Amino acid sequence: MRKHFWIALGLTALLAGSAAAQDVQGALRAASTALGMNDMKSIQYTGTGWQGMVGQNFTPGDDWPRTGLKTYTRTIDFDSMSSKEEYVRSQGTYALRGGGLGFPFLNDQKVTSMVRGKLAWNLNAQGQPVPDLSSAEIRQMEIYLTPWGFLKGAMAPGANPMMVKRTEYDERVTVVSYLALGKYRINGTINAKNLIQRVQTWFPNPVVGDMYIEIVYTNYKPVGGIQFPRFHQHYDYDNGPPSGNVSGGDHAFGLESVSEVKLNVADAVLTVPANVQGAMIAPVRVTTTKLGDGLWLMAGGSHNSLTVEFADHVVVIEAPLDEERSLAVIAEVNKLVPNKPIKYIVNTHHHWDHLGGLRTYVHEGATVITHEGNRPYYEEVLHAGLWLLKPDRYSMFPPEEWSEGYVFETVAEKFVLADDTRRFELYKIEGLPHVGGMLIAYFPKEKIVVQADMFNPGAPVNPNTRALYQNLKRLKLDVTTLVPIHGAPAPMSALETAMAGAK
Ligand SMILES: [Zn+2]
Ligand SMILES: [Zn+2]
Repeated sequence: MRKHFWIALGLTALLAGSAAAQDVQGALRAASTALGMNDMKSIQYTGTGWQGMVGQNFTPGDDWPRTGLKTYTRTIDFDSMSSKEEYVRSQGTYALRGGGLGFPFLNDQKVTSMVRGKLAWNLNAQGQPVPDLSSAEIRQMEIYLTPWGFLKGAMAPGANPMMVKRTEYDERVTVVSYLALGKYRINGTINAKNLIQRVQTWFPNPVVGDMYIEIVYTNYKPVGGIQFPRFHQHYDYDNGPPSGNVSGGDHAFGLESVSEVKLNVADAVLTVPANVQGAMIAPVRVTTTKLGDGLWLMAGGSHNSLTVEFADHVVVIEAPLDEERSLAVIAEVNKLVPNKPIKYIVNTHHHWDHLGGLRTYVHEGATVITHEGNRPYYEEVLHAGLWLLKPDRYSMFPPEEWSEGYVFETVAEKFVLADDTRRFELYKIEGLPHVGGMLIAYFPKEKIVVQADMFNPGAPVNPNTRALYQNLKRLKLDVTTLVPIHGAPAPMSALETAMAGAK
């Protein structure tokens, strides 16, 4: 009797399991048919839209700043996981506020980025391939985020998708979920018309951790023999009204209109260039240059930091990129100045490429000095939550003080760091389009100003360069050398000459 009971139960569970699996496969097949993609091996689509510069908003509460995509063409081959994205971005009528190096775009900019499986590369201005291996995973995920890539991934052998029902936009829908690349959960919503209306995933990011990414698909229309939607993409959340935006960046990409769709195009399977085949991700490198007594430039990558020695502690200016960069810089700081703790980490502004290494310094025991407008957002960034996809030290071993607000000193207009041995000052830059709360550091003895994203010798003078120049005059700072966060130090005369030439 007992034995039969177990057999019967086992059989029921098995039947229920396979029925559910059949339901998922049925839902996926119905969606594939409704989209018209049953014979699709590759797709190429051309249209126009916009792009949000992720992590580069004017203030933390603003949306990502936008540029127009005058022409946008994407070619995807699903079996080889190849994708080629080509576009011309132009500032157009979009606001000039916000950032990114080279933003706002004074001239149209052509971008070509590619991936095939684990290899990614871009074309430079001369049309030559440049390896970009660290972008391979996100570009593969961007294939899975398309309606077609999502379905192909869900129907691939071993995908093992599961399914739930819920209500979305007042309609009962089916959500199918599986792991892409063996680690990233990806969910796709199939609506009552069997069309994919949302695909969502989470991807590791050095500032916000497990970053939410979704594309919402609406306005499906028949184009080129298939149903083609409008794309509306979010990177991260807008935590918005009614509480006031602490973190407003979310809109990342929109494909508003499509002019042409082709299926099964020639050359969709990309050939990986030889210099990309053999490429390796370069190890993090820190090179140190002495700028004065107890003052060093920490370069060697795309972003610099500075080490400033005081009698019983050290101050570091800027924690860019990510934890790897911070750990490498901290190791060098400890070699330069043994046995003195890093007491403060100064942050020039909140853009993600200047912020991604901050958590490492707070974990190390440093207090953050930043513009007062950044504080609510940094309290979010320094939240000691779980980072499941790529844990950092801060998430694994969170310091307790963060929650009590002991990790901040904020700057309104001016802030002085001084002891008997040295002094430097922080000033807020006024009237800057790049970012709302930009700080510069001024070293009176060395006559050095440290600046981020405003002046790049050789590059054309833009509104940010003008703002830097006007602020140096307004503050009556006696400057001989400009030390940038990107690139090499330049004499103040280079800025004077650039400004004179631009008038
Ligand atoms: Zn910036
Ligand atoms: Zn920058």
